[in-house]
Amino acid sequence: MARILVIEDEADIRQVLEYNLRQEGHDVTGVERGNAGLALARERPPDLVVLDLMLPDMAGLDVCRAMKADARLRHVAVIMLTAKGSEIDRIVGLELGADDYVTKPFSVREVLLRVQAVLRRAPTGSEPESAEPVVFGRLRIDHTAHRAWVDEREVSLTALEMRLLWTLYQRRGRVQSRGTLLDDVWDADPENNTRTVDTHVKRLREKLGAAGDYVETVRGVGYRFASETGARP
Ligand code: CA
Repeated sequence: MARILVIEDEADIRQVLEYNLRQEGHDVTGVERGNAGLALARERPPDLVVLDLMLPDMAGLDVCRAMKADARLRHVAVIMLTAKGSEIDRIVGLELGADDYVTKPFSVREVLLRVQAVLRRAPTGSEPESAEPVVFGRLRIDHTAHRAWVDEREVSLTALEMRLLWTLYQRRGRVQSRGTLLDDVWDADPENNTRTVDTHVKRLREKLGAAGDYVETVRGVGYRFASETGARP
């Protein structure tokens, strides 16, 4: 079970989350303010933070930003709680590396499901680089050898397409915005724009054929590699 930090100033919401997450067997701490939450996280890094966007002392986005700038907290999973209609904040949250978000008002069950899903995923960056080929459903990737196969048929990928596939695969189950992909796959080359990402994803999917739908489109945000090979709920 996981160590979870809930940063939320509305006492009733915080208490409901604390209670229910404890019922699931997690080790839960709740705090009201962003600064106190950050201090606690630094003292004892949690596995996951449930973070409200609107806090009395600092914006949830700034808490998220501070965590992502801290080497010890960079890989901590973050689920943002956002007020309804804050579409831009959702995207910005994902740009900042939040793993998921839940829109208020939410059902406790919804939050518990998101927490479960995020905890099931491999933490980004901490997955050891393996020289062994990885197998995901019909897809096999030998990243070291820069080779990929779908149903035992080798797929010819350019170096860039391999980098795109590998980046998405390593962050499977997590939405990657076009901006993040531009930064990480294209090294933020100013020659490129978000259309570059769409074009390459399209070509990558075509080349992957039967495995192409492992790369999912997340409307208005970007792309996500499937977290499981089966049908998504
Ligand atoms: Ca709030």
